[in-house]
Amino acid sequence: MADQKRPELADTLAEAGRKLGQAISDAMNRIRPAFDALGEMANRPEVRAVVERAEKLAQHRPCLCFCLRAHPEDRGICETFDAVITGQHNSELLGEIDIPLCAPCAAARAARDFARRSS
Ligand SMILES: [Zn+2]
Ligand SMILES: [Zn+2]
Repeated sequence: MADQKRPELADTLAEAGRKLGQAISDAMNRIRPAFDALGEMANRPEVRAVVERAEKLAQHRPCLCFCLRAHPEDRGICETFDAVITGQHNSELLGEIDIPLCAPCAAARAARDFARRSS
């Protein structure tokens, strides 16, 4: 008679396994809409625009111009996250160093240099 317990146990295990499998697929079905929503969110134009802007900012070098000292007359012109060229900066601490500059800052520095030299 002891042998009769085995099929029962197997049935119980099979049943438990089936229930577990069902629970997992239930959970997956419950999670999936959230994943789909996330995927849809990432494809929405306004979200894409934010992501693309963040990516662009990450690629860009910051302008390290010391605007207030280098060109105090044109303070508001700096495109802080759009450094396009490398310029020279005279630092009392480090001497002449290369620093990334944005286009407006580079122009303002050049104009100031020119004005200083010709006066
Ligand atoms: Zn500047
Ligand atoms: Zn700048």
